[in-house]
Amino acid sequence: MAAAAYTIGEVLFNEHVIQTRVHELASDLGSMLMGKKDVVVVALLRGSFVFFADIIRELARDGLDMRIDFLTVGSYVGNVSSTLQLKHDIEIDIRGSTVMVVDDILDTGRSLSFACDHLRAKGAAEVHTCVLLDKPSRRTVPRQADFIGFTIDDVFVVGYGLDFDHRHRELPHIAAVRFPEDKQ
Ligand code: 5GP
Ligand code: MG
Repeated sequence: MAAAAYTIGEVLFNEHVIQTRVHELASDLGSMLMGKKDVVVVALLRGSFVFFADIIRELARDGLDMRIDFLTVGSYVGNVSSTLQLKHDIEIDIRGSTVMVVDDILDTGRSLSFACDHLRAKGAAEVHTCVLLDKPSRRTVPRQADFIGFTIDDVFVVGYGLDFDHRHRELPHIAAVRFPEDKQ
């Protein structure tokens, strides 16, 4: 289905600002994870893939010993309030592990809550969370992230892995999307 006319608006975070913050975040994550037994870093796909790729390489430069896996959670298409489902599970046996979940945006909080519940149910000893962006004004479930890149207002953003209608993930920066119905 074609998306309604929209434009890519102002750049909220340019490439340099993102890289600087990602470097700081990875340093914080590394300090917390270093020395933990059996660290598993999990990407909550798909929007986190660029952020995740940058974070894990920074962690590697810092010498963190870790395993990597991927989790995909989604809702049924066409029903915003539908229940979430697991679309792709991790392959690693995480019983007793220290898990760090990496996601792109914490919006309503439903996806990250679902993912954390799932990983705890699979036997993780500890589940920590890291998101690049946080939109606290949109939260419908009481969920915070342990590590946050940037806090933003209620605006739809694309770039650095984030899409609209499968487009714009490749942008090296993060920009706001402007829809025709947006107030000026
Ligand atoms: P939540 O379950 O927290 O409502 O949803 C989080 C997911 O919704 C994010 O991981 C992301 O995939 C998507 N999402 C939320 N806000 C935005 C946004 O501003 N831009 C894009 N591209 N995706 C978003
Ligand atoms: Mg996501």
